[in-house]
Amino acid sequence: MTSIVNREVFLKSRPVGVPAADNFAIRESILPELADNQILIRNQYMSVDPYMRGRMRDLKIYAAPFEEGEVMTGGAVGKVLASNHPRFQEGDEVLHQNGWREYHISSGIGLSKIDTSIAPIQTFLGLAGMPGQTAYFGLLRVGEPKPHETVFVSAASGAVGSLVCQIAKIQGCYVVGSVGSDAKAQWLLDEAGVDDVINYRKETDLQQAVRAKCPKGIDVYFENVGGAHLEAALGNMNMFGRIPMCGMISHYNDVTPEPGPRNLMFVVGRRIKLQGFIVSDFAEEVEAFYADLRQWIQDGRIKWQETVLQGIEKAPEAFIGLFTGANNGKMLVQLDEQ
Ligand code: NDP
Repeated sequence: MTSIVNREVFLKSRPVGVPAADNFAIRESILPELADNQILIRNQYMSVDPYMRGRMRDLKIYAAPFEEGEVMTGGAVGKVLASNHPRFQEGDEVLHQNGWREYHISSGIGLSKIDTSIAPIQTFLGLAGMPGQTAYFGLLRVGEPKPHETVFVSAASGAVGSLVCQIAKIQGCYVVGSVGSDAKAQWLLDEAGVDDVINYRKETDLQQAVRAKCPKGIDVYFENVGGAHLEAALGNMNMFGRIPMCGMISHYNDVTPEPGPRNLMFVVGRRIKLQGFIVSDFAEEVEAFYADLRQWIQDGRIKWQETVLQGIEKAPEAFIGLFTGANNGKMLVQLDEQ
């Protein structure tokens, strides 16, 4: 193997508030020779995900924190360039958790082959990957929507939210999505086929706006955002409504914790079920997800978008963009020049 220079992004300092480009830096190193049972992977795409912000704090919630000076990790897909491992061959397309770098040498642990007959390789970081599974299991297993119910979704055009909206439509629900731009709202109406949309940035009273768009009340609120969205949803929930607590991105950069929703008492009177979940809770059911997804894609029932920045030096910008809504659908970084 000729000497290959690998570029990797590491966490230079822990962000305080909104992350900045100088919280990250790139280092170069020469890849070592491949040892027995090792696999050399050229990463083609890496994922940036909101949960990574939590791992930049010096606090364990459900995953260990990143250390300062440590190369970041996260979902990546790529091609095997060389293999000394019996289970992997040159040319295999693979998924693993060592993104934020151009190359990765794997022992095979945590490395899986991808079936790109379902969808293109990069979708295994979005629609056909962790965010897609989050949407599927969070809505169907936690939200338990029934036909004709009203489903309200926040961050509705993002990686998770856009699939939640479309699965809810497939279930026969009335679906309303909240997003931060008119262009995102239009995509949801025209492509994802939702029934109505809210551009929350244009609303002075979000609770009233939700009431106007969900005249029969909300049966399932898919929570991606928190803050004003959670209060607005709580104020419009129907009896025995369900709230899958998927994420609360509006709080991820809080320096001091914000007070909770002022109307939480509605949970009692309206018998609302709030349930948090983590996508890995459903790992054993993942075949059901792929069977349905394959069918829905073949039938043209699922649309998706990707925002792709080019080159590893753009990884911090891509990540920070999640908090300003810079992404249409799944935010990705392409690592191999096309
Ligand atoms: P998205 O693709 O939806 O990207 C994030 C979006 O959030 C932005 O595009 C923006 O859209 C919106 N947003 C950002 N800041 C705010 C804010 N302050 N107020 C309102 N909206 C905001 O990300 P994902 O689909 O990957 O993740 C969505 C949610 O799902 C996150 O909360 C994430 O943590 C959670 N998640 C949970 C998992 C689990 O296992 N429980 C697994 C994966 C994700 P807009 O322009 O519309 O404002």
